[in-house]
Parts: sequence; C-alpha cells; structure tokens
Amino acid sequence: FYSTNKLPLSVPITLPNGIKYDQPTGLFINNEFVPSRQGKTFEVISPSTEEEITHVYEAREDDVNIAVEAATHAFENTDWATQDPAIRGKLLYNLAELVEEHQDVLASIESLDNGKALQLAKGDVGLVAAYIRSCAGWADKVYGKLIETGSTHFSYSRREPLGVCGQIIPWNFPLLMWSWKIAPALATGNTCVLKTAESTPLSALYASKLVKEAGFPRGVLNIVSGFGGTVGAAIASHPKIKKVAFTGSTRTGRTIMKAAAESNLKKITLELGGKSPNIVFADADINKAVQNIILGIYYNSGEVCCAGSRIYVQESIYDKVLEAFKTQAEAVKVGDPFDLETFQGAQTSQQQLDKILSYIDIGKEEGAKVVTGGSRIGDKGYFIKPTIFADVKEDMRIVKEEIFGPVVTITKFKDVDEVIKLANDSEYGLAAGIHTSDINKAIDVSHKIKAGTVWVNTYNDFHSQVPFGGFGQSGIGREMGAEALDNYTQIKAVRIKIY
Ligand code: NAD
Repeated sequence: FYSTNKLPLSVPITLPNGIKYDQPTGLFINNEFVPSRQGKTFEVISPSTEEEITHVYEAREDDVNIAVEAATHAFENTDWATQDPAIRGKLLYNLAELVEEHQDVLASIESLDNGKALQLAKGDVGLVAAYIRSCAGWADKVYGKLIETGSTHFSYSRREPLGVCGQIIPWNFPLLMWSWKIAPALATGNTCVLKTAESTPLSALYASKLVKEAGFPRGVLNIVSGFGGTVGAAIASHPKIKKVAFTGSTRTGRTIMKAAAESNLKKITLELGGKSPNIVFADADINKAVQNIILGIYYNSGEVCCAGSRIYVQESIYDKVLEAFKTQAEAVKVGDPFDLETFQGAQTSQQQLDKILSYIDIGKEEGAKVVTGGSRIGDKGYFIKPTIFADVKEDMRIVKEEIFGPVVTITKFKDVDEVIKLANDSEYGLAAGIHTSDINKAIDVSHKIKAGTVWVNTYNDFHSQVPFGGFGQSGIGREMGAEALDNYTQIKAVRIKIY
C-alpha cells in the first residue's frame, strides 16, 4: 500500500468518459504542489472497478507543520485578513467561475474517485459553485454593530477572523465538503489547512489549481492528503490552529473534540452522523412521497449523513406505500457511475461495502424481513442492491445505528403523537422528512421533531442560504447560511470613553 518511489507531481489521466486531464499528486502548500517530506505515497482506487487510479503523496505531521507555517504567515504577515473584504469576495467569485468552467472534469474526477453516479456528481459541482458564489457575496457583508450605551461611551463590535483553521473532510461529498469548509473561512479572512479523506483526495487537488488560477495569495489555502490517525490527529491537536471544522463519524468527532480541548481549546464545528426519520402521513401525495423516500435513502448510494434511513408510514397507507416503494427501489439503476442513466453508483470503499453488508446480515439475524435487495451486486466494484427492511422493532441495531448505505427500515405508525416519539427516539438529530398535504400538521410536526433540518414534501434538498447541522450527537455548529460565517469569526467589543 505504501510506496516511496518517486512520484511525478502530476500524472496524465484519461477518465472513463474520454476526458483527459493532468491530476496533481502533491500536497498543495503555498500555492505549489510539493512532495511530502518523507516521500511516501498512497494508492487511490476506483470503487467501481477496484483498479488503481493513481498514487498521491501522503502527508505526515511534519507536512502539517509546514502547511500550518504557510497559513500562519499568510494570516499574520500579509494583508489577507485586514484588506477590504470585497477583494476576498472577488477571488471567491473568480473561483466559482473556474469551478463552472471545469465542471465536467471535476464531476468526472469525483465520480471516478468516490464511485458516485456522474449525474449526481454534476449536481454536486453545481452546488459547489453556488456555495462559493454565495460566500463571495457575504465577504463584504460580515460586520459588527454599533452598540448604544449612552453618551459617555462609544461602543461597537467587530467580527474578526479566527486565524488558521484546520479542516478535515470525509469521502462522501469530497468536493462539496471542500467548498463548505473553505468558502466561509476564506470569505471572512481566515487561512486554511485542509485534509481530504484518504479514499478521495483527487478532486480537491485538482481544485487547488483553480484556487491558484483564481488569484488567491500563497498560503491562504493548503491541502494535505493523508490519513486520519496521522494528519487528521496532527491538525486536531496543533497548537497554532485556532479552529477545527470536521465532517465525518460521531466516533471520530469525539476524538477530535478531545484533541482540540487538550491542545489549545481550539474552536470546533462538527458535522456528524445521523439516523434521520422520513415520515409519510396518510394525507400525503403518495407518488411524490415515494419519490422523496427513494431520494432520501438511495441518493449518493445512501452515503449521506442526513439520509432518510428510518421510514415511518401511517398505517392506513402503509401497504400501498410499501408496494410502490419496493417497485421503485427495484427500478433504481445501480452500476457504472459513468452511465448517465445510473442513479446509484458504487459504495466508496471495501471498508464501506463490508460495513453495509454486515448490517444487512445483522438485520436478517435480528429477524427483520428483507422486502427487496439485501446483497451485493457482482464481485467487482462495491455495488449493493437498494435494500428495504420491514417488520422491524425499534430496538434493532438496523433501526438505531447509522449504516451509511442503501439500506432502510420501514415501520407503521398510528398517529402524530406516536410518530413524533418514534422519530425522536435517537441519539442523533441531523434531519427529518415529513410528507403531508396538511400545512398545520407540517408546521406542528416540524417544530416537535428534534433535528437540525426538517424537510417538508422534499428531502436531501440543500440551499447555500439555508443552515445545515445537527442536534444531539449529530454535531455542533452550522454550515451554510449566515450561520457558517459566524463559525469563522469571533466578536471583539470596543468600548471608548468620551471625554
Ligand atoms: P471518519 O469519521 O473516521 O473519517 C472522516 C475523516 O476524518 C477522514 O478525513 C478521516 O481521515 C478523518 N479522521 C479519521 N480519524 C481521525 C482522527 N483520529 N483524527 C482526525 N481525523 C480523523 O469516517 P470513516 O471511518 O471514513 O467512516 C466511518 C463511518 O463514519 C461511516 O460508515 C459513516 O457512518 C460515518 N461517516 C459520516 C459522514 C458524514 O457525512 N457525517 C461522512 C463519512 C463517514
């Protein structure tokens, strides 16, 4: 797996759809691609073929130190943080334009590296450009307040950047998570050291070329490819990093929070796991509700933190919904991500494949009924059949634990009170879906559900201006919306005595 052979800093790649491009392999520090200090590399695999795509350089703690030095210098010794913020906005606009110009290659890299369907990867890239543009617009609109405290004083607050931010992202939306992290941080004048997930380092490296082309000064954004236990841990505990932003599992989130506390009490935002309820009331438009529960669980092969992985259907329509859901689940096109008809591509890694299959076994052993799916497809590429478990009990592990794959449970409920209890019976609280044609019920239930996002008559429906994040063990802080900017600024109060 490890190699110390000299790897060129860029390798030519021909994508399965014929697009040819040069893939950077180095770490991105001070606007240059560089080999890692120790010269180690790691292999990047295509989840749909299990074949090697390339190697990339692997950062270790010494590389993190160099990246942090670069980011510290850019923050403290240049005018990056103190200049007219509209200049940072302009650079982000440039970057959004470049992402759009390069959308075909970016989506294709994402699809190759993560295994997701190309049609969904194109959607991701659209969201990336939209979010960077949204943050570009925020750059010169983040400011403090004049505070009235009487005529003896003049008091105001400023919103200042935090400094060097460490950012650790997962593999399910590599480029989208890159944008959710870097765009608000850069808009507000911070500098970044970002670690991509070890299984999906490619799109962020390609996008680094665009960052340079957009005109960002050296050192403001640095990318270190590598593993969680080494690079991730070094970021979380680095004394010069002032904030760590993480998306991934609740278990790793806890480790990062501990390291952040013990090193320098760095600020944290955590976007963690979920087991989100998706509720269909008897008065819902059944066809639309079924489309949304399909989207809720099979979108991105189920590798979505807010996946609607617990479906609750009101008893009078349960049989009808289950039948329609089964039919549509069986019609989901699973397979080659580069086939534009494909909706569900490959799971991201052998580890994910094994985890999901083991949960399918657990569900069967627990006595749940497999309505459809329940197995791997073929033996090359990490494909799993869209799976539905019925006849489940609420204490089963497949109802309680995050599976992070195309596996869902479906349960009947009687009335609003019962379904609110069921929906809220989780340590998580990331998202929920409600399907109803009754506006009063929609609002009432939305307010009673313990989750950071409630979707009504839609699901997995994101917008740059709408904050996203979790209640309970699903996380701390919010991404997107005005709230994301809050997480990257600190308030300074200035109080002046008037003589
Ligand atoms: P993970 O949380 O361990 O990995 C996410 C990121 O954290 C990666 O970049 C990883 O390198 C890094 N990391 C790992 N250990 C670290 C440490 N000690 N210190 C700092 N960084 C560290 O997730 P995983 O092992 O890839 O997947 C396991 C499960 O996590 C999945 O099956 C899924 O349930 C969940 N997950 C959730 C999300 C999400 O979007 N909320 C994303 C990925 C995985």
